Order: sequence, then C-alpha cells, then structure tokens
Amino acid sequence: MRFVHDTLPQRVSFGSGEAAASLEREVAELGASRVMVIASKREMDTAGTLTGNLRVLLRYNDVVMHVPVEVAARAREAAATHNVDAIVSVGGGSTTGLAKAIARTTGLPVVAVPTTYAGSEATAVWGLTEGNRKTTGTDPRVLPKVIVYDATLTLTLPVPISVASGLNALAHCVDAMWAPKADPINAALAAEGIRALAEGLPKVVTDPSSIDGREHALYAAYLSAVAFASAGSGLHHKICHVLGGAYNLPHAQTHAIVLPYVLAFNGPAAPDAEHRIAAAFGTNRAIDGLEDLRRELGAPHALRDYGFAEDAIPAAAEAILPAVPPGNPRPVTVADLERLLRAAWSGADPRATF
Ligand code: NAD
Repeated sequence: MRFVHDTLPQRVSFGSGEAAASLEREVAELGASRVMVIASKREMDTAGTLTGNLRVLLRYNDVVMHVPVEVAARAREAAATHNVDAIVSVGGGSTTGLAKAIARTTGLPVVAVPTTYAGSEATAVWGLTEGNRKTTGTDPRVLPKVIVYDATLTLTLPVPISVASGLNALAHCVDAMWAPKADPINAALAAEGIRALAEGLPKVVTDPSSIDGREHALYAAYLSAVAFASAGSGLHHKICHVLGGAYNLPHAQTHAIVLPYVLAFNGPAAPDAEHRIAAAFGTNRAIDGLEDLRRELGAPHALRDYGFAEDAIPAAAEAILPAVPPGNPRPVTVADLERLLRAAWSGADPRATF
C-alpha cells in the first residue's frame, strides 16, 4: 500500500437536541463575541432559537442556491459593516456555501450547523456562480472550524428532499472510490457512509420523524463529505457539475439520478470499488444494492422531470468530456457520455445501459 491522504482539521460535535448548547460552547472556545448568523428565511426561526445565547450582531437571510457572486459581495459587505468575528450558518449546502464565500475573503471562522445531507460543511471546496457559470475551488480558509450536527434539525426536511439529499451523500461515497485521489482511507469512510445511508434513509422514508434514521443519514453525510473532500471529484461529480452549472438543474436531484449510470459504467472496470460498494449494501453486485435502495426510497429517476431537454444531450456530452478525470477506471468517449445522459434523461434501467 502506498498513498498520500489529507485529513482536514475540524471539530465535529454530534448530538440530537444539543445544537444550542454546542454552539454556545464552541463559539466561546473560538473566542468570538460578535457573531453573524446566516440562515435562509425558512430556517431563520430555528437559527434564532439555536443562537439565543450568543451575542449576535447580524442575522442574515439573503441565501441563494449556488452562491451568485453579487449575493456573496453583499454578504461580505454586511459582515464588514458589523465587524463580526465569527459566522454561524444554519441550513443546507446553499447556506454553508454563503458562509464559505465570506470566509474565503475575510478568514472569518465558520461554525456550520447543517440541516441537509449535502456535506459542504466538511469540505474546503467553495463555489460561486456568475451568470450561468459556476466556479469552484479549494481553499483551507473556507473549511468550517466546527460542525454542529443535530439530527432534530433535519426532521422538517421533506421526504423527497431528504431522499435526494441522502443520495447526493451516497454519490460522494461512490465517486470517492475512483476519484483522482482515491485511497484506502477514503474508501473505508465511503463504505461506512454507504452502509449507514442504506440503513438510515429507508427509515427516514417510512418514518420521517424517526430520529434514528435521521442520525444515520447525518452521520453518513459527514463521512461521505470527508471521503469526497480527500478523494476529489470523480466522473460522477464532473458530470453533475456541468449539468448543474449549464442547465440549472437542481443539485441533489441531479446527483440522485445520474449516480446509477456512472456506477453501471465504472463498476465493472473497478473491481475493488465494485466489491466494497456491494459489500456495504450487502448485495452481490453494487448496482443491485443501489437500485434496490433507490426503489425503496422512491428516488428521482429521470433528468427530463427536472427540465433537462433531450436535444441538450450532445452539447452536454461534449462539455463533460474535457472534464473527465484522466484516471477514471474506464476510458470515456463522447458516445459513452451521450448514452449515459440519454439513459439518465429518460430514466432507463442503468443495468441495461452499459
Ligand atoms: P439547499 O441548501 O439549497 O437546500 C434545499 C432546500 O431545502 C432549500 O429550500 C432549503 O431552504 C430547504 N431546507 C434545508 N434544510 C431544511 C430543513 N431541515 N427543513 C426544511 N427545509 C430545509 O440544498 P443542498 O442540497 O443542501 O445544497 C446544495 C448546494 O450546496 C449546491 O449549491 C451545491 O453546489 C452545494 N454543495 C457544496 C458542496 C461543497 O463541498 N462545497 C458539497 C455539497 C453541496
């Protein structure tokens, strides 16, 4: 075995019903006393309750998916005007993304309180959009110093969004198996992430108020993001990045739909990944485990349901090709990508696609 693995420095505080107490403790430990709270309008009430014991100078709710540059600029200005010394973000990947955008230019410490399974809180990846062009990059300054996980905050996440978001986390795990910096540590984290998602997500669907299912999903979301942060973007993320940026498709649903086609394509060419993923699902073949889970969850299954047009497929395939990671386990042609996208567009059986 020979590998180089990056472990990101972060504290994780996990406890259902404990977010308010954890925030008070963690913000004090950072030595911060002028806090900016970021939450979307929907999550601001919750954020208000959680941060009642902090000295909050600014409550900020101008959160927009994919962080448009002008939204980031306004938020930075507000942070500077109030001279804040820490940011507490309460929400999904869009909210965490705005906190990261501020941290990137100001170096302000972020305490992230995630309310979805997107996993942005555990990566040093930032994303900004200008027009319909999304730019991402990696910067240690944007990595939240502390993550406060409290599964009770995810109880309000509607089942369809929980499923899509959980499958977004699953995509981090699967892609981490063959991404450019895949290594045995990432693979171990990702395999446990798959196992915990396969255990937790069905419980979230059958009993959305089950804290057990929600805890498993949130714990897995963290593992998935750590594996993804270290392994980098594999074929799956490259495809979704182009689709999300150029065609304005919803983030989590796009991941949920595309994943089985990438697994059907890459799995046979990546025996170790195939074996680990199948073992994590407890099935003979990885794709069977994923498809069984997706059926059980009633997962989104066709890009055409989310506004992706069939006649966009050739151009999308051309746009993805240069982004394909050179070390992908199987060589990728434009024809392969067109086939994959056509199947994902219509929701065809991935096992019959490759
Ligand atoms: P999101 O943050 O946009 O949230 C989706 C919807 O769910 C929103 O309407 C939000 O208000 C609502 N919501 C969130 N939590 C809720 C709760 N507990 N109860 C009820 N409603 C709730 O979506 P997301 O999928 O969490 O994040 C997507 C964004 O995150 C994308 O911009 C994506 O690029 C980014 N992302 C970044 C990374 C990274 O490493 N940088 C990783 C994953 C995702």
